[in-house]
Amino acid sequence: MSARILVVDDVPANVKLLEARLSAEYFDVLTASNGTEALKMCQRAECDIILLDVMMPDIDGFEVCRRLKSDPLTHHIPVVMVTALDSPADRVRGLEAGADDFLTKPVSDIVLLTRVRSLTRLKMMTDELRMRALTSLEIGVQTPERSAVADTGKGGRVLLVDDRQSSYERIAPLLSREHTVDVETNPAEALFHAAEGNYDLLIVSLDLDNFDGLRLASQARSLERTRHVPILAIADPESNTRLLRGLEIGVNDYLLRPIDKNELLARARTQVRRRRYTDHLRDNVQNSIEMAITDALTGLHNRRYMESHLATLAEQAASRGKPLALMMLDIDYFKSINDTYGHDAGDDVLREFAVRIRKSIRGIDLACRYGGEEFVIVMPETDLHVAGMVAERLRRAIAGEPFAVNKGGKRIEVTISVGLATLESKGEPIADVLKRADKALYRAKHDGRNRVVSQAA
Ligand code: GH3
Ligand code: MG
Ligand code: MG
Repeated sequence: MSARILVVDDVPANVKLLEARLSAEYFDVLTASNGTEALKMCQRAECDIILLDVMMPDIDGFEVCRRLKSDPLTHHIPVVMVTALDSPADRVRGLEAGADDFLTKPVSDIVLLTRVRSLTRLKMMTDELRMRALTSLEIGVQTPERSAVADTGKGGRVLLVDDRQSSYERIAPLLSREHTVDVETNPAEALFHAAEGNYDLLIVSLDLDNFDGLRLASQARSLERTRHVPILAIADPESNTRLLRGLEIGVNDYLLRPIDKNELLARARTQVRRRRYTDHLRDNVQNSIEMAITDALTGLHNRRYMESHLATLAEQAASRGKPLALMMLDIDYFKSINDTYGHDAGDDVLREFAVRIRKSIRGIDLACRYGGEEFVIVMPETDLHVAGMVAERLRRAIAGEPFAVNKGGKRIEVTISVGLATLESKGEPIADVLKRADKALYRAKHDGRNRVVSQAA
């Protein structure tokens, strides 16, 4: 896994040092010697991660970070502050500016590479999600960048796993100032608790009395329901090796004891924000997938979805030697419903029609809105005789019960015409079946509507 790392520092020697170490691990390294240049490179999306010096002459690192994090174009790029100062106050200042992590000069190799690798993983995942969410922009869904930029990271649901009373009695009240906090003192229950609780953040002590906190972190990473919940580890300064191991298996961030109050709050906020952002991205992807295959008005599948599946259904039927029936339905005199009662009433009819279709078909049948007031139902393992009965039942379900429109203010009679056809032979193009159903539908219209006609032999 390679990534493009932007190293920003006004001292050329510092740049060279980090560049050499990262290049040796096959990262692509870009460099900038001041904040203005770095901002430009980020806006052109040239890098995946930024290692950012704090003290620079033109714009300091805190300000560069703040600008990156408040711009929807760049806010998702992980920022690591590289600082000569290592006081909690500086770290907090950086975190408030939106930094994702810290490295203290002189930077140890192992810490550098572990952090960069872990942020690379995160960046790849968000890139993938962002890319897929882009399609939702095209169909008018808001991407979550703007709300992410405005998110304070407060008000999260946090689970603290800690079995040392002196520790959790100090940490929990601090966190409770900004979040809803549950404390789990029995680490054996923690995984279950985490999976059930829909948390935004797990805080796990790595030095539990009765359990291996690392094991818990690794289990949380492999369990479907906790996989995406960020983990903040709390460790003693001497447990450095275990901490690095933790970062490798997916711990997102850590705090060393004794815990600084402000740093705890700042790191928790960062993780909660990140969690909400990736959740939004994931929802967006889910939504855009659903929107791409669903008709918005009726909730049935759309024509594109049906057409992409029709060939597969036909092949399956042919190879298993099973029948396949196809029904084309069209509402009668729909134009005059619109003309008489208004377009909204027409929409009500379409929605209610879809509800009645769903009630009349099986789970394996595929119903879709084919066009305006035309629908198609594909029925696997169904012969012409059975399909005829289903169509007749549906026709009666429409004609037999008036449709409520205008919020129930009016009830109108609706009828449909149906054309039926089945797959006749192995390898017959499904388009031919569709054509026969369409012809049968035409016949049903021609013969007086409100009727079912099977394919002409
Ligand atoms: P026939 O019995 O021959 O099918 O006559 P018809 O009036 O139902 O058929 P026609 O194809 O002449 O008219 C279909 C109408 O459906 C025209 C179009 O404005 C309307 N329509 C298409 N999509 C929608 C929609 O989403 N909502 C509403 N309200 N009307 C729609
Ligand atoms: Mg019609
Ligand atoms: Mg029509």
